[in-house]
Amino acid sequence: MMQAALRRHLIEPFYETAKGGARLKYWKELEQSQYLPAEVLSDRQLARLKALLSFVYENNAFYRRRFDEAGLRPDDVRSVRDIGILPVLTKEEIRENMATIISRGFATEGLLRFKTGGSMGKALALYITEDCSERRNACARRHDRWSGWEVGEPIGALWGNVADPTMKQRLRGMLLSPYIWLDTMEVTERSVRAFENDWKKARPTLLFGHAHSLFLLAQYVQRLGITGIAPKAIISTSMMLLPSERALIEGVFGLRVFDRYGCEEVSLIASECEAHEGMHLNIEHLYIEFVKEDGTHAGAGEPGRIIVTDLMNYAMPFIRYNVEDVGVPKAGMCSCGRGMPLMEHVTGRVADFLVKPDGSRVAGVSLIENSLTKFPGIDQMQIVQEAVDAIILRLVTGPAFTHREAGALTDYFHQVFGQKACVRLELTGEIKPESSGKYRFSICRVP
Ligand SMILES: [Zn+2]
Repeated sequence: MMQAALRRHLIEPFYETAKGGARLKYWKELEQSQYLPAEVLSDRQLARLKALLSFVYENNAFYRRRFDEAGLRPDDVRSVRDIGILPVLTKEEIRENMATIISRGFATEGLLRFKTGGSMGKALALYITEDCSERRNACARRHDRWSGWEVGEPIGALWGNVADPTMKQRLRGMLLSPYIWLDTMEVTERSVRAFENDWKKARPTLLFGHAHSLFLLAQYVQRLGITGIAPKAIISTSMMLLPSERALIEGVFGLRVFDRYGCEEVSLIASECEAHEGMHLNIEHLYIEFVKEDGTHAGAGEPGRIIVTDLMNYAMPFIRYNVEDVGVPKAGMCSCGRGMPLMEHVTGRVADFLVKPDGSRVAGVSLIENSLTKFPGIDQMQIVQEAVDAIILRLVTGPAFTHREAGALTDYFHQVFGQKACVRLELTGEIKPESSGKYRFSICRVP
């Protein structure tokens, strides 16, 4: 692609020089560091953690108190695991301590500000420096290229809430790569056809979007026999990619999906490379822990809460931050030769785990995955648990879903939540995303 090459080799370097941005430099560093041996990357991670802790100890009132209360002095840190004596940081604590969590020397007026939604429905303001933003963009770009997409090539994006500042920032990061757009708040036959028309004109190589939106698009493409949307690479991001949805997307487009995991607070956490053997952890920018209920670290193959320390955000530090997701670390290295360790997948948001009568928890997405594979005729499904014994199943169904399937589905949920539970089926034309544009598969309202 001539135009893409022109944008990549000429226009961007010129623009970057004029602007004085460091993204190109960071990007080149990251392209090289990914193949460093694991031990070198761990040493760097420890050095970056120590630098962050020393800075924060001197310049951040909120963390100074936290370190002192836990008895942690930055000089005592010999291994990344040593910060485990610090308590886990919650969204609520950040919200309550906004006045002291911004480090000295960083006036909020001089920082980039954006917002995240959060499971409680309350927004949280986030601040980073321009420099930190450039690092994040550089990192996203490296991982975008793992899919085979090249800088400067057009992108087809599926995103909700087009005015979302995170997305704007993201597109600034894909600078000079033209993009077209399908709003996930409105995926209909008409909008998909319009997207196809745009696609034919702009000819993107990369299709990029929320997992479930990609799935909905793939369904339309299949149903309507659309041939004009033909990406060379697909990146699924921002929410869990269910195995059944992945299979459909890959079947329809004839491509492997590159799954990615991250959040607004700390940006990219992990992503798949071309070997598809798991998601590489972004250990150049983050220290990522998987913590079990008893506070110890999960072993390979074991689920644990994902706790993240951002090594690059000095303005509004995130140290041992609870992302409120559960994930599974993976043993061994990837055959691609990159030194970054792997995780298997994200099993869901903590808030999406449902409560069984005996008090134990079950991942809502697993129940959905089981239902979709067991019972024919279910296109989409959402579970809402109003009380331990009150379950609503919202369903978008096709002709194969009859009384028999409805009965069997209800029985299945009785097996999980007890015979006394009230299981109500609600048939609906569509399941709407939240205002962020993301879908929630399961919602637990049990306190
Ligand atoms: Zn790999």
